[in-house]
Amino acid sequence: MPELPEVEVTRRRLESELVGKSFTQVLVRVAKLRQPVPKDLAAILPGLKIRSIARRGKYLLFDCGSGWLLVHLGMTGFLRLLRVVSSPGKHDHIDFIMDDGHLLRFHDPRKFGIVDWFTGDPLLHPLLSGIGPEPLTDAFDGLYLFNIGRGRKIAIKQLIMDSAVVAGVGNIYANEALFRARIRPDRISGTLTLLECSTLASVIREVLEESIGEGSTYRVAEESVAYHPQAFKVYGRGGKPCFNCGKPLDEIRLGNRSTVFCQNCQK
Ligand SMILES: [Zn+2]
Repeated sequence: MPELPEVEVTRRRLESELVGKSFTQVLVRVAKLRQPVPKDLAAILPGLKIRSIARRGKYLLFDCGSGWLLVHLGMTGFLRLLRVVSSPGKHDHIDFIMDDGHLLRFHDPRKFGIVDWFTGDPLLHPLLSGIGPEPLTDAFDGLYLFNIGRGRKIAIKQLIMDSAVVAGVGNIYANEALFRARIRPDRISGTLTLLECSTLASVIREVLEESIGEGSTYRVAEESVAYHPQAFKVYGRGGKPCFNCGKPLDEIRLGNRSTVFCQNCQK
């Protein structure tokens, strides 16, 4: 599933190619995504210029002047940027054709993505208004995490994956950050000390920034988009030896999500 770094890498790539370009045509082949694609999208967008591309949590926000195009990649979605218009494949649901000939194609086998149009402040959009602070900003730190976790009985991994607590930390990076912070994912949130919360907040930022910096976890390419799993220390490595101590990593389910950790290194 695309997480914050993948969405940010997508944003940067698209920003460098598409800002200043205008939509000439929008083809909606499948409108039934997680919520219906607005019926009038194909009529609204042509002629509008992309002024900037922002991100809030895992939402991409295309500033089109008179309104905002919102895109969430869901479970399996991605935006493929093609230099020329080509015939669509099976899961290519929406094509945005630009005035320079580029084709931005929304591909989503599981159709859990969202494509929406919103006028006004996009941060007031019902899907965005409840999102917690961005993990790469100063609004998210150890004290914030400590205060929000105080008295909470849920596992720390579930707490940091709650988008109302912090934006965009999904399963992969929650696993990775907890390993690096040496905190068990099933620790009750309220038992973490301020020091542990500070460590956790800074490693969350670290793992996200490293992943964005590499730009390699995810490629917004003409042909494919792929994670590079060698970057992960625990995610997807249940039963394999811990990189710190060599003991086999444990795999459990937490909130119905695969959770991998080292019993020996994480307390
Ligand atoms: Zn270990």
